[in-house]
Amino acid sequence: MLGGIPTAEHLSRAELLVGQRTGEVGLVHSWELVTAVDGPGTRMTTFLAGCPLRCLYCHNPDTFSARGGVPVLAEDLLAQIRRYRGIFAATGGGITLSGGEALAQPAFVRTVVRAAREWGVHVTLDTSGFLGRNCDDDLLADVDLVLLDVKAGDEPTYHRITGGRLAPTLDFGRRVAAAGVELWIRFVLVPGLTDAPETVAAVADYAASLSTVTRVEVLGFHQLGRDKWAELGLDYQLTDTPTPTAAELAAVRAVFTDRGLTTY
Ligand code: SF4
Repeated sequence: MLGGIPTAEHLSRAELLVGQRTGEVGLVHSWELVTAVDGPGTRMTTFLAGCPLRCLYCHNPDTFSARGGVPVLAEDLLAQIRRYRGIFAATGGGITLSGGEALAQPAFVRTVVRAAREWGVHVTLDTSGFLGRNCDDDLLADVDLVLLDVKAGDEPTYHRITGGRLAPTLDFGRRVAAAGVELWIRFVLVPGLTDAPETVAAVADYAASLSTVTRVEVLGFHQLGRDKWAELGLDYQLTDTPTPTAAELAAVRAVFTDRGLTTY
């Protein structure tokens, strides 16, 4: 069981591969019920296992590998979602598919969001956008809100943080906006890494250029993930990086609000 949801560890490797391809099975790290984060209202956030990026400040390095997850049938995850429908309706909440990287398992995401939407459940996709090409127009049409992590505003900084390229994220955000789907932009302020004025300004300019952005979240870096890196034997490079001060966070939020963006 995964927090009350049956797991499908009885599946053979071949059955698992077929199920992943058809979207009937996903590799899930964990799930939780949260309020006031990951989207509006009370939400059931499901963390899918596996991520192609390697963000230096990742809080959940145990989701890097898909092997860190357990197989779950979409119908079992949906049964749990169905149990919370009353709470979602009462709070204006819904489900959030997160990770790891949710778009690393697009077939599973498609199965879950399709059913959820049929039940009238609000759907949020929490993603780095790096695999935005995996979200085709049909899938996007079943999403109410995209929470897009824009980790930097320029390629060199983005690459230094994540090991990946920024362009796919920027392209995906533009597609989401063109489709008329609501966007929240998330930016993590990491002293010495993402706080250069030109990086912040580039993220703010980008957010301001997207017509469906209704909110920007500027989050301060913290050290909460450090122990997990050590437990996994991974090289954590931000040991000496401080948490940004309230004044530094306020100054960066002002860069966004100056562009007319609602910022938290
Ligand atoms: S995209 Fe998210 S889950 Fe993936 S490495 Fe970065 S912070 Fe971690």
